[in-house]
Amino acid sequence: MPSDPTARWRVPEGARLTLAKIDPRAADDAPGDKAATKAASDTLRAELVELQARLYAESRQSLLVVLQAMDTGGKDGAIRNVFSGVNPQGVTVTSFKRPTEEELAHDFLWRVHRAAPEQGRIAVFNRSHYEDVLVVKVHGLAPPEVIQGRYEHIRGFEASLAAAGTRIVKLYLHISEEEQAARLQSRLDDPAKHWKFEAGDLEERKRWPDYQQAFQDALRATSTARAPWYVIPADRKWYRDWAVLTILTRALRDMDPRFPPPADGLEDVVIR
Ligand code: AMP
Ligand code: MG
Repeated sequence: MPSDPTARWRVPEGARLTLAKIDPRAADDAPGDKAATKAASDTLRAELVELQARLYAESRQSLLVVLQAMDTGGKDGAIRNVFSGVNPQGVTVTSFKRPTEEELAHDFLWRVHRAAPEQGRIAVFNRSHYEDVLVVKVHGLAPPEVIQGRYEHIRGFEASLAAAGTRIVKLYLHISEEEQAARLQSRLDDPAKHWKFEAGDLEERKRWPDYQQAFQDALRATSTARAPWYVIPADRKWYRDWAVLTILTRALRDMDPRFPPPADGLEDVVIR
């Protein structure tokens, strides 16, 4: 059996993952230089488009892609680059912001569960229920024992989605502190990026070690066989996109969606 090319990024269940040991600039295992890797991504994207069309037609299973990263980690760019060309009817992207009053009046999974994919669809979460063990932990927005309990609630929630036919892929885009500095600076310097800069981003940046710790805790506690986390070196955008495409096409291939057979009696119908 050929080895699984996505295993290099996967966080094994119960593993003692150490984020500081993973190089965000890593790209040695790419298919080639930047140009060759982009070409490989184009091939994978064409396959993704084909697999998504089958998933939609089959309408029996669904795919949930959870994207998390530090600020400027590349979630928006990855979504844009990976899903361009995919039929928009079959994909929903939900960006989770600071919870509204209505959302805060419910349990933390309420807003997330509503955005889970229906059969035949791909749902992409730009941030997710993991914010409730990340920003909420770093800022102490909930008591520690409440946050601690959430890892188990998340595992249970994801297991119930998986049991209902949803394949779950969770991607942590891993950037370095230096790369974040450069990207924040370009948000200040480039008029087309000003809108992305928030003054609060600099305050968050000061908490870099706390966030890294919170990510490490979350990935260790919630990477399971049915809802694995992948750590993707993301300082180089072309590597990041290729890795995401590799993981998603692999998952969809494994799901093996099929065009449904024609309804009974239609096989020999000829339209005149
Ligand atoms: P952005 O993704 O840059 O538009 O920012 C969204 C902001 O919403 C980030 O600062 C997140 O940390 C914040 N956010 C998302 N979910 C939550 C949550 N559950 N609790 C608190 N803040 C959140
Ligand atoms: Mg932001």
